[in-house]
Amino acid sequence: NEELERLATTDPLTSAFNRRYFMTKLQDELKRSRRYDRSSSVLMLDIDHFKSINDTYGHDVGDIVLIEMVKVLENEIREFDTLARLGGEEFAILLPETNETSAKVSAVRLLDAVRKITIDAGGKPLNFTVSIGCSEFDGDYDTVEAVLKSADLALYEAKHSGRDRVVTKQSIPAA
Ligand code: C2E
Ligand code: C2E
Repeated sequence: NEELERLATTDPLTSAFNRRYFMTKLQDELKRSRRYDRSSSVLMLDIDHFKSINDTYGHDVGDIVLIEMVKVLENEIREFDTLARLGGEEFAILLPETNETSAKVSAVRLLDAVRKITIDAGGKPLNFTVSIGCSEFDGDYDTVEAVLKSADLALYEAKHSGRDRVVTKQSIPAA
């Protein structure tokens, strides 16, 4: 049944896909890359200073930030790209058939789209930014864990080099 399927695969707050669904998609895509020798990419995205948004304006505003951001991102990515909420303020986007250079183009556009979002925080306009880590995988050696780990490392670098930016990394061969 469609409703059950939706509940099992999406995050109730934002309607983005959930972590479990994302992992399944990524595993499938990895197999496809291996079979057809193609490159795909993962973007790991995290809202900058989200804790301070929650602390300053309250969790209702925090929730609106998450909801509005997902709406905007969904409009900026392709139908075949998968946006998922991994937990808290962390999201991932799977870009099938997209190499590192193209994934970076998409990420830069997403950064820009998020900067343009304005939330009503109790009568005051609130803007926010995100940091993005990008990792390309080609299926030869990579595992789901290796892909996510390298995207995570790239995200860490994006955070620690000033936020509101994208950093890319090749995922590490497992062999
Ligand atoms: P879609 O492929 O699902 O893409 C949805 C939206 O993601 C696009 O809305 C656009 O805002 C963004 N987007 C996706 N890929 C790119 C890209 O390579 N560059 C940029 N700058 N933005 C991108 P948009 O533009 O309103 O397009 C709506 C739909 O029209 C697309 O849905 C796609 O099905 C089709 N489309 C538009 N332009 C092209 C094109 O140049 N080639 C192809 N094959 N389809 C296109
Ligand atoms: P661009 O916007 O500079 O994007 C360059 C390349 O980045 C695209 O090459 C694609 O490989 C990758 N890319 C950009 N955005 C996305 C995205 O949201 N998802 C994924 N998976 N990949 C993305 P491509 O496909 O050959 O497109 C060439 C140019 O055609 C794009 O240059 C853009 O100007 C236009 N285009 C293609 N599709 C769309 C679309 O849906 N909407 C709009 N507005 N433009 C599109």
